[in-house]
Amino acid sequence: MRKQIAAANWKMNLNQNEAETLLNELLSLPLSLQAHQEAIFAVPAIYIPLATHKLTGKTNMYVAAQNCHQKDNGAYTGEIAAPMFASVGVKHIVLGHSERREYFAESDALLVEKVNAVLAINSTPIFCCGEPLAIREAGTQNAFVETQIKNSLFHLAEDQITKVVIAYEPIWAIGTGKTASSEQAQEIHAYIRSVFATKYGQPVADQISILYGGSVKAANAKEIFSQPDVDGGLVGGASLVATEFAAIINALK
Ligand code: PEP
Repeated sequence: MRKQIAAANWKMNLNQNEAETLLNELLSLPLSLQAHQEAIFAVPAIYIPLATHKLTGKTNMYVAAQNCHQKDNGAYTGEIAAPMFASVGVKHIVLGHSERREYFAESDALLVEKVNAVLAINSTPIFCCGEPLAIREAGTQNAFVETQIKNSLFHLAEDQITKVVIAYEPIWAIGTGKTASSEQAQEIHAYIRSVFATKYGQPVADQISILYGGSVKAANAKEIFSQPDVDGGLVGGASLVATEFAAIINALK
């Protein structure tokens, strides 16, 4: 079975005490992670050592970065390179979140470089894609997302694409409380899988985990995750509440 993943995206939230309290609370709750299931915590980079310490010895729980620079090192003040994350044990890096595309002008071409940087350190890119509201209203979301995927991922070889996790996140559902219906999520996830199948073949496409993101919470996770092509979620707001995120982890199929 493909990996089923609950990934927390804390974004730029919490001070250190709050981060520690959240992890302590979460880890005190009953969490049932089976062998094919993972919980991933994309925390602000400054809390990676803290989160790594807290998760030491926990099976199938990982700390992730929310972004990295495309170069390995150099005069890029304030940036963090993928090999730096590797050196502190990070195995997953979120790339191309819509907030980075919008506020930091990350283009499909830049994301090619970042994807390559993450694969070069043998880590997993959690590659975000998704359409804005106007595109959804025009009914052209499939073509929009297909272009994002083709432009940033189709240079990869078969043995590389299976290391990538996709997070489909309709921008109109991020942080808005609006969620795609489980039918809408299934429809576009199946389409995304078909895009990979056309390029790499169905057996390869069937190995790629495709997460849904956009106002996932305890109350809707089970229904969304139950869809055949939805392999878990990338979760913002609800990942900041221990009981919510614990329920989301426990809703993985
Ligand atoms: C996100 O930040 O990727 C996200 C999906 O946020 P939220 O769950 O708050 O909509």
